[in-house]
Amino acid sequence: MQKQCKCGAAMSIRLRTVIYQNKVEIENVPIFSCESCSRSEVFPEVKPELTGLIGTLGGTPEKQQLLFNEVSEIAHLMMKATEKNRAADSVEMIIDERINELLDLLLLAQSLCDEPWSEDLRKRLSQIAKHSLTVQDF
Ligand SMILES: [Zn+2]
Repeated sequence: MQKQCKCGAAMSIRLRTVIYQNKVEIENVPIFSCESCSRSEVFPEVKPELTGLIGTLGGTPEKQQLLFNEVSEIAHLMMKATEKNRAADSVEMIIDERINELLDLLLLAQSLCDEPWSEDLRKRLSQIAKHSLTVQDF
């Protein structure tokens, strides 16, 4: 998946660590970066989840490390797709597997009447559904 940088070179996407206020390390954030001018920008599709996560930290966060792939299904799927032992599997297969996994968990959450958990799982499923057209490019 590529995008053109303002300088004209191609930007490539990879998972990187974002540092917030010099204290919080957010790992595995999909970032576009340009090798020729070093410009980088957050993958637009994950911005809502990233700003939401940063919003929960408040103005004076403690020093900590967060895994973005735990809140963003896009980052999770990108990680899965780049794991060496999954190299032979298609991205569609990985996405299908994750959807099935989330649906199983959703059934479990609903049978336990765990509403916050169900809501979280529904949000994750909608993240995948929303991006199912773009995710195949990873
Ligand atoms: Zn550039």
